[in-house]
Amino acid sequence: MRSVMVVGMILIVSGTIAQNATDWVSPLPKKIAFGETAIVPVAELGVTLGDGAGDVVATAREQIVTMLEEKTGVRPEGSGFEILLGVCDERGTIGDLSVPGASELARLKNSDQAYVIRPMGNDRLVVAGLTEQAVFHGAITVKWLLAAGIEGDTVTIPLARVTDWPDISERGEWGGSANGDIQRFADEKMNLIESHCRLSMADDGRGEGSIGEDFVEEARLHAIKVVPILTHLDQLKGTGIYDTYPELKGIGGTSTALGGRVMAPCASKPKFTEILGDWLASLATMKGVDTVCCWLSEHHVQCGCDDCQQVGQYVLEAQSLVKGWENARKQHPDLKLRILLTQGSYTSNAQVIAATPPEVQITYYDGGRTYDSSRDEMIYPLLEEYTASGRWLGCYPQLTASWRIVCPWSGPQFIRYRMQEFVEDGLECLCGYATPHNDLYDFNVAAASEWSWNSTGRDEVEFGTAWATRRGLPEPGAVAAWAEMLGPVGWDVYGSRVPYSAFFGGAGRMIADRQQPKLGEGMFRCFPTQARFNIDLATCDAALGLARDAVGEPMLIAETEALRGYVTMLKELYTIASMYASSHLPDDAARQALQDAVTRLAQASMDTTDALREWEVAASGGNHYGGSRFGDTVDVNAKTVSEVAAALAPLGITDPSAASRERVAGTWVSDDFEEGERVTKRFDVTELLDGAGTYQIHFKYTSGWWGTNIHRAALAVDETEVAADEHVGMAAYASAANVYTLVVEEHDEGATYTLVIDIKGVASRGRPADRQGCNGEVSVRKVRVDDEPLKSPEVGPVAESLQSIYGPPQFNSDGLAVGVVTGGYGSGSVLRALEQQRGLNAQPVGLLEPDWIKDCDVIVLPQPHDVASLTVEQVELLEAFARGGGGVVATHSAVGYRGFPPLLTSICASGLGHVRDTGWRVALAHPITDGIDMDRVHEHSYYDHIELEAGPQGTVVASAGASGKPVVICGDVGEGRYVACGLLPGIGRGSDNEVEVEGEELKLIVNAVRWSAG
Ligand SMILES: [Zn+2]
Repeated sequence: MRSVMVVGMILIVSGTIAQNATDWVSPLPKKIAFGETAIVPVAELGVTLGDGAGDVVATAREQIVTMLEEKTGVRPEGSGFEILLGVCDERGTIGDLSVPGASELARLKNSDQAYVIRPMGNDRLVVAGLTEQAVFHGAITVKWLLAAGIEGDTVTIPLARVTDWPDISERGEWGGSANGDIQRFADEKMNLIESHCRLSMADDGRGEGSIGEDFVEEARLHAIKVVPILTHLDQLKGTGIYDTYPELKGIGGTSTALGGRVMAPCASKPKFTEILGDWLASLATMKGVDTVCCWLSEHHVQCGCDDCQQVGQYVLEAQSLVKGWENARKQHPDLKLRILLTQGSYTSNAQVIAATPPEVQITYYDGGRTYDSSRDEMIYPLLEEYTASGRWLGCYPQLTASWRIVCPWSGPQFIRYRMQEFVEDGLECLCGYATPHNDLYDFNVAAASEWSWNSTGRDEVEFGTAWATRRGLPEPGAVAAWAEMLGPVGWDVYGSRVPYSAFFGGAGRMIADRQQPKLGEGMFRCFPTQARFNIDLATCDAALGLARDAVGEPMLIAETEALRGYVTMLKELYTIASMYASSHLPDDAARQALQDAVTRLAQASMDTTDALREWEVAASGGNHYGGSRFGDTVDVNAKTVSEVAAALAPLGITDPSAASRERVAGTWVSDDFEEGERVTKRFDVTELLDGAGTYQIHFKYTSGWWGTNIHRAALAVDETEVAADEHVGMAAYASAANVYTLVVEEHDEGATYTLVIDIKGVASRGRPADRQGCNGEVSVRKVRVDDEPLKSPEVGPVAESLQSIYGPPQFNSDGLAVGVVTGGYGSGSVLRALEQQRGLNAQPVGLLEPDWIKDCDVIVLPQPHDVASLTVEQVELLEAFARGGGGVVATHSAVGYRGFPPLLTSICASGLGHVRDTGWRVALAHPITDGIDMDRVHEHSYYDHIELEAGPQGTVVASAGASGKPVVICGDVGEGRYVACGLLPGIGRGSDNEVEVEGEELKLIVNAVRWSAG
């Protein structure tokens, strides 16, 4: 029975009418029980501050007051019903008010954030915690319980009894939009923002660090701690430290990476420790800063000086940080040091940890391992042992599909799994990464706050319901069912690293190399059976039904369509790769079937692209928060189809979606603006147009410090403009209004069309080196007229060049018969280089099988793209080939390094390591080094080489520029000869693209081929 009592203007109702109020509160409080309910006119309500309330609790009061005022128009300043916010002591009293249950607080986990809410009488609700931050979190719970019950200017207040505390002590993010998301974090009880700070050098040679005081203060008032980030120690150039102290630059070829963009510090120098201490000390002077997170070098770098090499880069960095921190603590005893592990430090993490005293905090980051959205465990045994010993561990996981791309994913299972892992492994800190903007990933970010606070509270559906309720989405139950259904599909796609990194070249290469696709591996990692594609597609269809019919929310519809598109692309890529990997030339019917699969792939790519664009607009409220990473995400769909179609072109297969693709019309660079900032550029786009219709002109930032303003885009035939769009747009890291629409009413097949753009950019001349560059590109695409599915074209004739793909090489002319194995790094460029040499008859070898190599005198084996594609049997075949009198030349890891099977170990025992940027030199006058300058170190085309260990019969002919270790080894085996070449000729640095083999590397490889033939 429900009873009603009237107290003044207040109605007290017994019974639990307010249970659904919890759907408004996220994270779910650990313990919450409902009793009576008070129905209170907002004007009668007052929020008061108890003893011990400072400015954080005052901010908490404002949170409740402002919410009520915004929703009802009435400011709650009455005295009929009191909400009291107060800091209590360990006995649970605020002043002389003893709050029931509050004496338990000190015994709860993370008690500094634990709070109770208790009704005290019918006209008072009390929030108590041991700290202001705890009271703040409690007030946020009250705020959302109240928000659930507003009707007109009356609020229904559940007289709830709540006892609540978080599982993980620090919960927050770094990067992305985190610095601007204080209110979002406050509403979900997130309490950490790690943020880059300014590091510089003072005139007196001391280090100085600072971070925005207003930002730190605003966060502090919202119970959020800001932890300044002292950036990766291999990226300190911008601080000026090396201008002041050039001797702190790391030395030797191993000290730099990424073409010199990152550089190891010489961390064994006491001055380096001193500067770190300066930076830490000056950050510690800032109000609200009590911890600094210091990032170890991110890349594989090592200062080459004796002192540094003896200890190792990362351990020395950790030791320097600890010493610097100890110095800073002389003035700032409360300062805490947090050290971030990296992919660079990964193999030294045990030693790094051992180098830190117990009170130093460790956070685990690794660009490959914590920026991972698979079902794999993230916290590995070393770190489990570390937390089991009672030490403090944080982690930097990505909360999204991938840091590199911008894709929709509402994945409750993924986030719950990861947060439960962190809680079970005893982590103290979640510092998530969700770039470029939290609005794009609201579901997953909220889920991370939910399950990092209360890891065993809500299930996926309960969380989804709460998320949708608070966001005001229609049919929260249907939204929750949708997310529960679709979440695992996203996990399959993104857990397989699709689209990043699988679509960034890998998918096209798999087809071009005719690799047999493997379910359960690589881009099909989470698709163990072919049935999984169809199961996921059926799930997408069902989820689409919910999103469209039950919810009707564009953002959810677009997310579903994007995922369906990705699964379809994967399914078709698998189909295409399986068909094309066959060793027989497909007949006409099979070629048409391949064409149809390519058409379906193209269709799925276009559907995905459309869905992604719709989703990004809906999720960022039209603000295009996706930025350039979103642009890449969209582009890579089309690029994947282009690459696949190009690989299959010899089979007469075409890409039916080429016209509606973005294709680059031209570029601009900073030099264009030397004569004046505003310029007009013209590009011939005749070939890019496809009849009358609507064209989109897309201006994109590509690189540099500066963005570019766009004023106008027009299309002209000779000097006559036929279409124009004039508005101000910007192509920058975050672009705005950068798409221009040109309508071609009539298209003249014979005419020359020119795209005329009017842009304003920034010249580099006279600007500091780190403030230069203003580069971009403009592309054209035809807008699809309707949603008509693509029609599959009829296949064209088969190209003659296919002969070599489908049969053993044909050595018709005289000369040394050289077979270059296809499907490797540099297979194409090395083949082209050898083809041009007099006396060599070079042909591709499509399969390493006896029939295919029997006519060869020499086999060149460039490192295969895929480690699994070179089997032990094939290596044995090569070894037998050599013993029988053939010549073998292997490059880079194919010599038997990094997972490749050992090859002719009597000559080259093994690979020792891959070393960057040190070059190579001649070690011995030998036919293989004939004509190569012996007196200097030669650069290699690729950025690294493999250092080798010679076998008993090996002769070292070239060695590493820095270490002097072997890089090229040769020797006799049986009747034949073998050359192990640690270089990777024919591949450029920076990317894995083929480049022309030239210079000393060309001499080396040609000599090696000739010598190995005997
Ligand atoms: Zn050094």
